[in-house]
Amino acid sequence: MFAAGIDIGSTASKAVILDGDGQVKAKATVPIGTGTAGPERVFGQVMELAGIARDDVAWITATGYGRFSFEGINDQKSELSCHAKGISHLLPGTRTIIDIGGQDIKVMRIGDKGQLLNFVMNDKCAAGTGRFLDTMAKVLDVEVSALSGLSFQADEPAEISSTCTVFAESEVISKLAAKIRLENIAAGIHKSVARRVASLVQRVGIQPDVAMSGGVALNSGLVRSLEEEVRCHIRVHEDCQLAGALGAALFALHSMRNCESYTG
Ligand code: ADP
Repeated sequence: MFAAGIDIGSTASKAVILDGDGQVKAKATVPIGTGTAGPERVFGQVMELAGIARDDVAWITATGYGRFSFEGINDQKSELSCHAKGISHLLPGTRTIIDIGGQDIKVMRIGDKGQLLNFVMNDKCAAGTGRFLDTMAKVLDVEVSALSGLSFQADEPAEISSTCTVFAESEVISKLAAKIRLENIAAGIHKSVARRVASLVQRVGIQPDVAMSGGVALNSGLVRSLEEEVRCHIRVHEDCQLAGALGAALFALHSMRNCESYTG
């Protein structure tokens, strides 16, 4: 039998299937989140990739902003617990996690077994989140995945002083009108996000090793800016965006084993 974790985020849906030995059988991401067809689609995809049917999945744990909306789950866990578990599995030795998703930023301190010790979150404002970067990419008329490459070619990063999405958008438009290179604007956007995130990191206190999770960690230009702000190396795993779903799948595996030994 198999265990599944599904992370229904504000912006993207992610799923991971583990076999009974805890090996990853399949993983998938669909770039639409809660309230859309994304959760069902990602779950269908991950089962197809694993070559299994829904009846073969003994336990499903859901996490993420939309975790209460998915039918057929066995239980749900908070995003904080799932990112902590997922990252400490992917990158053992991590003590500080910076998770930036579509609409929030969380900074967590974790113990040696991945247990959550302390955390801070952003307020409701979109400043510094994936949504902020998505909006800025739209203004620049590029994909959000292109911001990283652009920023690495900057020679004089632009100063974006507003952290508010609405004001920053007008600032970027005025930089474009002033013919400032896209590369320099992209680097300025990253610096503005990095400053905002670094102020949250300071509130929890940084302890190495530091790792990033969430979809924004795929932006290496932003990771570099953040490293400069917090003056510390930040580890990023290629499955950073799947960390929450993996953590949920590990919780599901644990519950599945407990259930088997109880019924067995
Ligand atoms: P949530 O869990 O809130 O849905 P995710 O952790 O999945 O959020 O992250 C979504 C964000 O990740 C998007 O808003 C986008 O800014 C960013 N993102 C996704 N893919 C990429 C990519 N290839 N390069 C850069 N940023 C990305």
